[in-house]
Amino acid sequence: MLAHLENLENKISQLCVGKRGKLVQEFDRQRDDIMNIIKVIKVNYFSLTSNNSQESQDIIAKQASVIKQHEDTIQKLTSELNLEKEFTEKVVNVGKDFSDKLITSIAFIKSIKQHTGIKNPNIYGSLCRQLLELPFSLAEKMKTPGFGNSIHHDVDMVLFDQDDYYDDTPYIRHIKEYFDILINKCHQKREIQFGEYKIIGVHETTVKKVTKLEGIIKKNLLNIPHYIIQLQKDDNIIELDISTRHPADTTWKYDFDVNTIFLTEKGFNAHEDMYDIINNIKIKQTRCLIDLMMYDRNAFEGYGMLKQERIPHLLQLGFFFTHRLKIIKYGYTNITSTYEVPEFKMETTEPCDITSMAAPYIAIKIACRCKNRWLSIMAYLGILTRTGTKYTESILCPYCDENLRVKFVEKKPKEDKICKLEPEKLIYQSIPKTEGTIYFGEEAITFMRDLFGDARSIQEDIPLVMRSAFPAINIDDAVALSNLLNALPQRRGSNIRAFI
Ligand SMILES: [Zn+2]
Repeated sequence: MLAHLENLENKISQLCVGKRGKLVQEFDRQRDDIMNIIKVIKVNYFSLTSNNSQESQDIIAKQASVIKQHEDTIQKLTSELNLEKEFTEKVVNVGKDFSDKLITSIAFIKSIKQHTGIKNPNIYGSLCRQLLELPFSLAEKMKTPGFGNSIHHDVDMVLFDQDDYYDDTPYIRHIKEYFDILINKCHQKREIQFGEYKIIGVHETTVKKVTKLEGIIKKNLLNIPHYIIQLQKDDNIIELDISTRHPADTTWKYDFDVNTIFLTEKGFNAHEDMYDIINNIKIKQTRCLIDLMMYDRNAFEGYGMLKQERIPHLLQLGFFFTHRLKIIKYGYTNITSTYEVPEFKMETTEPCDITSMAAPYIAIKIACRCKNRWLSIMAYLGILTRTGTKYTESILCPYCDENLRVKFVEKKPKEDKICKLEPEKLIYQSIPKTEGTIYFGEEAITFMRDLFGDARSIQEDIPLVMRSAFPAINIDDAVALSNLLNALPQRRGSNIRAFI
């Protein structure tokens, strides 16, 4: 027992957490308590143990259980404090990542604008969504991986927002020249820096050919100049993914409402209702903007289409699951749409019974005779692309030999509850102001409030109040006057008018 106590005393005295906060105060209190108990027991240890009475044994047993309780609490508090420490570190890292990406992107934008004359390069994609996710993510202590976190994401940019800039305008030529210079300088190992980051690689990734089977989207990207710039500072790498413009097919321009946010010179903007988007971000819901059913219909309800014309439509549907549905990864598990959406699930345990591939994977429900049957996306794509079905013009369910149609369901977004006001008298209640330097005492404030009959806080807004009372006064005089008032003895009845 004594050895245990001394061991414990030692361990606890080494536990030290230096910051303020409720958790730390509680921790200190618990630590002091337990140290005091140990002290008392140690002082009385020999008298308690030398006399073997029932009473002494009871006291020892009772104290042992008290110590155990404190030990458990300290254990719990220590792990909570560690979590807080981890959280703080995470917040700082995420903050650094956001700030590095923003500053580096802006440096690039300023550079390409100056050299090419293009007007409004915009930042699109994940970075913009994550910036708006951040406050909600902080409120839940960043517990959802990938939500409000820009680390391990590239920065997407689109140089022209309008399609009419495209084709052989001088802009495109200038952009190509700009990137040629970057690529050449990079090959010559010349140092180029955007913000605090140095360029370590520039690559052109323009889609120059598309195979017959590839989806419709890739065809839309054909010959749109596209570049990737990689930059480095210490161990951090930033990747700028730069497209000169959006694909022509507007159906696939935006997949989810939360991905339509973009940052321009003039501020944040979105292609959908920004207020709805923010509400959706809060509840991790997103509205799918693509009419996916159209692809299934196009493939099966068009007349006289060859199989090789039908398959790209279905592959496009498959592409949605393989590439666009990654939004689930960032916490958006609730997907709604004004269109019908394919019924899908994430299979987490059973392997796919066609490809034998292990879970997890996404499975879709099929709309043939085999009702309620799920088909893995791998099997779906396999059936569409593999040679096994090459000799027939049909695209068939592997189980029942009916057409391989996908089941679609309604997932309409819920109507917003909008606060409708009845014509009643509202009660005005002032809210506490933020902490800061107090530069007028209560008495002075009451005095000036009486003087100007203004209900607003003079403390916050004295130059403005002065100006509204004396419209001729300029802002500097108003500030000077405020300072004078501030210097007055804080007593009701000081002759303020003497100064004016
Ligand atoms: Zn079937």
